[in-house]
Amino acid sequence: MIATLLVGMLCVYLLSFTVMFLLISRRLGRDRMGMDAFAVGNLALGAAYVLQLLEGPAGWSWMSVVNHALTLVALLAYSVGGLRFFGRPAPLLRPLLALGLGYAAVQILVEWAFGPVARYVVLSAACALWFCAIVAVLLAGLRTFARDIRAEAVLFAALISGIAVLNVLKLTRLLAGGLDALNMAGQFQTVFYVYMCSLATIIPPFIVWLVLRRLTDRLRDMAARDPLTRLLNRRGLTEALEARLQQPNAGARLLLIDIDHFKHVNDRHGHHAGDAVLCAIADVLRGAVREGDLLCRMGGEEFAAVCLDADESTAAQVAERIRDAVASTVMKAPDGEAVHCTVTVGISGDFDDDASLARAMQVADAALFRGKRAGRNRVERGDAVTHEDAGRTAGQSAEVSGLSPAP
Ligand code: GH3
Ligand code: MG
Ligand code: MG
Repeated sequence: MIATLLVGMLCVYLLSFTVMFLLISRRLGRDRMGMDAFAVGNLALGAAYVLQLLEGPAGWSWMSVVNHALTLVALLAYSVGGLRFFGRPAPLLRPLLALGLGYAAVQILVEWAFGPVARYVVLSAACALWFCAIVAVLLAGLRTFARDIRAEAVLFAALISGIAVLNVLKLTRLLAGGLDALNMAGQFQTVFYVYMCSLATIIPPFIVWLVLRRLTDRLRDMAARDPLTRLLNRRGLTEALEARLQQPNAGARLLLIDIDHFKHVNDRHGHHAGDAVLCAIADVLRGAVREGDLLCRMGGEEFAAVCLDADESTAAQVAERIRDAVASTVMKAPDGEAVHCTVTVGISGDFDDDASLARAMQVADAALFRGKRAGRNRVERGDAVTHEDAGRTAGQSAEVSGLSPAP
């Protein structure tokens, strides 16, 4: 009686969360993050349990054949949902239809060849194997596709392992005691459906949490990155520095990198080619800095690199490597013409808290200005801001913000 009640509750959970997944999936638009497939999975499993309630005691019936086929179809739909959540495109309806029809045919053959118990044994074995495969894929993905949700993936794998174990137990009980093992008045069935009800209660909000996490991560990323080059923007740089400079380190140095005569690139090849050059230079910078250094597009054709844990000579080496890498890179404009660029780099003195960043910018900017005046395609170190440099920096900042420098 209790087990039957629990199956009834399972139906309610599964079907109501089907509606919720569908609503979320419609709201998400183009990238549905697998929510549509999860909705189909819940619908199939909910329908399977409705049939189980209608069909009565375990045994052969067409309802039971459809019930078993829907159970496996649900597992496939959940797996497709998982793949889509992790950004792997996977087809849904055709594989579901093929599995549903194919498994119905397999059941008829198994029932005919080995009798009714074998049909239930095959379902339990298939479910146990499928759940084990999901657990294995999740654990293998902890270092790759699931690394940003490691704790959640481990918890999910643990929950799924529970159903795998219960299916193995059901299988052994079926082999030992036949269809009596599925008696809804038995203790095992009560435990089985208590666990299933718990999962049906825990997993859907858990999936919604994962989607919410992914959405907020994307929003944070959009706010912190330049959409053209995918480097950090100023806000992202400040936030990343705040976090990094809280750890003990030997100080940081700021490199301001400005493309030389970039206006000519736009004038000669067009703005579109100019954008492609900005992206190509961002890639060159990624290859030239050290692991852990921060890269930012400050705006226009000006970039910044923050070398953490770097003394003067290390920062100078990185700057020289950047200058050299850009100068020796040949980029191709959409019109097919080769584009050569150079950059001038200004280096700040060291700083060790994010409040000093503005000062470091002034110093690096003054050095950059000196590099431009001295002929470009150069690295200039700056340790102090002279009065002349400070005046120029103030004027330039005002220009950037659209204000005229005060008279
Ligand atoms: P200098 O060597 O003195 O730095 O000369 P420059 O031509 O690089 O500098 P200037 O400040 O005169 O011109 C910068 C140009 O960068 C002008 C502007 O049109 C272009 N620019 C700024 N942002 C973008 C962008 O997002 N895309 C493209 N294609 N061009 C940009
Ligand atoms: Mg420039
Ligand atoms: Mg500039």
